[in-house]
Amino acid sequence: MEQSKHLMQNYARLPISFVRGEGAWLYDDQGKQYLDALSGIAVCGLGHCHPAVTDAVCAQAGTLVHTSNLYGIGKQSELADRLCEVSGMDTAFFSNSGAEANEAAIKLARLWGHGKGIEQPTIIVTKGSFHGRTLATLTATGSRKVQAGFEPLVQGFARVPYNDLQAIHDVAANNNKNIVAILVEPVQGEGGIIIPEDDYLEGVRKICDDHGWFLMLDEIQTGMGRSGKWFAYQHSKIKPDVMTLAKALGNGVPIGACLARGEAATVFQPGSHGSTFGGNPLACAAALAVIEAIEKQSLVARADELGKKIVAGLNTNLANVKGVNAVRGLGLLIGIELDRPCKEMMQLALNAGLVINVTADSVIRLLPPLVLSDEEADSLIEKLSSLIKEFLGES
Ligand code: PLP
Repeated sequence: MEQSKHLMQNYARLPISFVRGEGAWLYDDQGKQYLDALSGIAVCGLGHCHPAVTDAVCAQAGTLVHTSNLYGIGKQSELADRLCEVSGMDTAFFSNSGAEANEAAIKLARLWGHGKGIEQPTIIVTKGSFHGRTLATLTATGSRKVQAGFEPLVQGFARVPYNDLQAIHDVAANNNKNIVAILVEPVQGEGGIIIPEDDYLEGVRKICDDHGWFLMLDEIQTGMGRSGKWFAYQHSKIKPDVMTLAKALGNGVPIGACLARGEAATVFQPGSHGSTFGGNPLACAAALAVIEAIEKQSLVARADELGKKIVAGLNTNLANVKGVNAVRGLGLLIGIELDRPCKEMMQLALNAGLVINVTADSVIRLLPPLVLSDEEADSLIEKLSSLIKEFLGES
């Protein structure tokens, strides 16, 4: 379908429109079917139109869609309880997107700093990170492409290389008194599925403890089971002070969350922060159904199992293929780094009935739904391996 000329031209869309989805499959307006290995960029973790989410949304839509945060919202309370139960956090604020969840985290850290008499609170962020497109979150994002043209940027961020503990020590030594927090992704998603050293998060946690900073983890892409744990930080022994979620939380119904623990859990007071839509009954009903389905279908363990299977299959098929630099994965966060830019792989895959993504120019990114069957995973491995070999001129 032709895109309307009345749409702002901020997206470079591929010339295809999906009209229906079921499980791991998408259907375009010509009736062609595609295996979805992207899940709407890590959103539809339960696959498309999961019946439990559909039922919950339909039931809630027929009962009460929205009131406002001026009043109690039962489903929001229930969701806060469930999320804190699975994450070990203490309190939740609900937003409508990932960027807004990070905005809440940034504001929380600043407010905490001001409470301690720090007038220029500064948050350490990393190179190659992605935290969103609002002014504060694009400033936190470690990509000039995202920032260019939107200056003046927001003050109060210090940047260090990712996966580099010494660099954080160095910032601490130079500017200690203004730092209030570190905001970091446990795995960089947009940055190219960059998985840090096993001891990185523990090291960051220790520096935060030593200096009295909050550790704030952006689990917007990695959370809700995708990494093979409920949250990627659970691969280590640490706990964050603040954690942000969005994407898979509502399986496509827009909702984000900023969760906090310990001292961070009580920073916001009435009037500190808010959102008209955030945590409304409809979005919370969807998120509650998502948590229940992940538990009922044991999808956290399944993500771990599927991820290992897919990475092993790709490694076997692509061993010794010139042009494949690395296959990386943590659960169903999978990246295949090529030695050259490969954006056109997205269209080549669509032609072959496969939905994939390319990020950081040369990394094929797979974020398949956690409900993928073994047969679908096999088909993904085989189709994608052939496409990569063809693209690299190896077949
Ligand atoms: N943080 C991370 C790690 C993300 O991957 C994204 C989106 O890709 C965001 C934040 C921004 O989320 P949203 O697009 O919902 O604002």
